[in-house]
Amino acid sequence: MFFSGHLGLGKARRLRPLAKKKKLPHISSGNLLRDAVESGTATGIHARQYIDKGQLVPDQIVVDIIQDRILKSDCKNGFILDGFPRTLSQAKVLDEMLKKVGNKLDLVFYFVVSKESVILRLSGRRICSTCGANYHVKFVPSAVDGICDKCGGKLYQRADDKMETVQERIRVYHQQTEDLIAYYKKK
Ligand code: AMP
Repeated sequence: MFFSGHLGLGKARRLRPLAKKKKLPHISSGNLLRDAVESGTATGIHARQYIDKGQLVPDQIVVDIIQDRILKSDCKNGFILDGFPRTLSQAKVLDEMLKKVGNKLDLVFYFVVSKESVILRLSGRRICSTCGANYHVKFVPSAVDGICDKCGGKLYQRADDKMETVQERIRVYHQQTEDLIAYYKKK
């Protein structure tokens, strides 16, 4: 089983091929939360208030979503977590969850990226509203501005990729997530 870091830095782009190669499910807390937002569930409506502001969704909501997911049968042989845990308390709950199912973390990936690069990558990211393909206005532009090359769908910017929100996400990372580096280094 593998586990990955935090803050949208292209982690999914790196982890998806790894998941495919290892035949393990790739579980992104951000994607699960966005699915809940899109479905309009009570959890999604609650979570959206935090996501759109660049803040972390309360631990209990995320923990419940992850717990439900990792108990599914496709996770029997392991899984790759992406974006979870993001707080020390989530990390401790994850330890407990894994103990209960007789599993453990094999690897933790920590991606080191400069603040300037994070801002550039996130604020330029665009996503296809139809097929979900990712673009970047500078690094991976679509052939026709605002239109997906693959399916012709409209490209949009995630609310939390707006410049002010990206700044908030970085602040939140330093305040609530960075402590995880020491936690996992110790382990
Ligand atoms: P991501 O797609 O990983 O960049 O996550 C997008 C947003 O979803 C974050 O800025 C948070 O608002 C929320 N989120 C994702 N994972 C977590 C988590 N483990 N704990 C709390 N909030 C999360």
